[in-house]
Amino acid sequence: MKEIPEYIHGTRNGYSHYGCKCESCRHANSISKRKYYEKNKDKIRKYEEKNRDRISECHKRYYEKNRDRILVLREQYRKENKDKIKACNKRYRDRNKDKIRKCRKEYRKRVKMEAD
Ligand SMILES: [Zn+2]
Repeated sequence: MKEIPEYIHGTRNGYSHYGCKCESCRHANSISKRKYYEKNKDKIRKYEEKNRDRISECHKRYYEKNRDRILVLREQYRKENKDKIKACNKRYRDRNKDKIRKCRKEYRKRVKMEAD
């Protein structure tokens, strides 16, 4: 890894060019990514739709290759961000009430069908 000048920390450049994963560089990168996504939403969605299989294959390969490390990081993240995760789940539930209701309904129907 390159030596990082102090003034670089907290910039996207710190994250992407210098590979710094400190809190403020990661934060800068995530803001930049979000801005980019907002600006190019339609283009990105089209690309993802067109390349869904290839992308999912790529994610799968990455996961299989890095499984142990990913599981450790995931568990560590869960332990360190309980409140954040809870808030995120709540936000998701609030935003997707209808979708969740529909899923539950379909699930109950399926379970009932299997029981009959
Ligand atoms: Zn940094």
